[in-house]
Amino acid sequence: MPLKCALCERNATLKRPKTGEALCKECFFVAFESEVHDTIRKEINFRRGESVAVAASGGKDSTVLAYIMKLLNERHDYGLNLMLLSIDEGITGYRDDSLETVKRNEVQYGLPLRVVSYKELYGWTMDEIVQQIGLKNNCTFCGVFRRQALDRGAAMEKVDRIVTGHNADDIAETVLMNILRGDIARLQRCTAITTSGGDGGIPRSKPFKYTYEKEIVMYAYFKKLDYFSTECIYSPNAYRGHARTFLKDLESIRSTAIIDIIHSGERLSFRETVKFPKLGTCSQCGYISSQPLCKACILLEGLNKGLPRLAVGKTHTAKRSQLFDGKGKEKDKCDAEKPDKVKSSLDF
Ligand code: SF4
Ligand code: ZN
Repeated sequence: MPLKCALCERNATLKRPKTGEALCKECFFVAFESEVHDTIRKEINFRRGESVAVAASGGKDSTVLAYIMKLLNERHDYGLNLMLLSIDEGITGYRDDSLETVKRNEVQYGLPLRVVSYKELYGWTMDEIVQQIGLKNNCTFCGVFRRQALDRGAAMEKVDRIVTGHNADDIAETVLMNILRGDIARLQRCTAITTSGGDGGIPRSKPFKYTYEKEIVMYAYFKKLDYFSTECIYSPNAYRGHARTFLKDLESIRSTAIIDIIHSGERLSFRETVKFPKLGTCSQCGYISSQPLCKACILLEGLNKGLPRLAVGKTHTAKRSQLFDGKGKEKDKCDAEKPDKVKSSLDF
């Protein structure tokens, strides 16, 4: 006999990864959408009339985010002016294809799109950077440039806030990575649902903070959303990959592991004696930085001088003084979405 949905009389079509409940598609949609709405209502204080840019890569997380932000904005009358903001890193065979998806989303969702490229901001594409530095430190350049590019794109469009598709798995993974690296400053802020905003920065919020990646894929799958699912051709990111595998192993033993790690991160308290970097502005480009020169300017200078490797990594500080007086400290992560590997959770 077919299994019944736990919430209505229909037959169940899926098992929720987050709770283990057997649900029909319709009840899953209701649960998914109302949980995101609850997170927004309780933890993100959107103001009516705010302009909000959805950071859109064409991947599953940001596509579902764009879809659901539009849906909830209309359903609950948030009064937001939404748009899509995409970064073109200049990665042939990856970003050019995923941007085509975002352009289709622009039409499908009726949201204006702005694309900002590394080439126009920095004079380099990732393809050109990889030609210079090879495949070892490419993600350092890409991550630092992307973070700043999103802010710059948002400033050009004069938006009040950026929302990103970071999901619960990403945040739990980041908590683990910051513990493994002993990065207390990042550990302290990585579970915040909204970051920055001070010192002229544009606030960034994560409406999917408590949303499981597997459920985002299920939602996209059952709603037949148009998204791009291929991994970046330059993606090594081995360390994060280990943290991800570890997290997935934990999740397979106990599905609440992801939320539990986020809650653990939220409840950490830090001694007053722990020193956190003070934010100022980069003397060269004016972007927020805890150092006299921001990391993007350090990396860019290295590239332009033909010495890109000198600009990378803590261990080369002495050598990097050949390039600059200041030194950067910031690490960044790839927020390029991983393709979905979740089809198995659609069967039960
Ligand atoms: Fe950039 Fe991510 Fe590709 Fe690395 S894996 S090059 S950070 S898009
Ligand atoms: Zn700078």
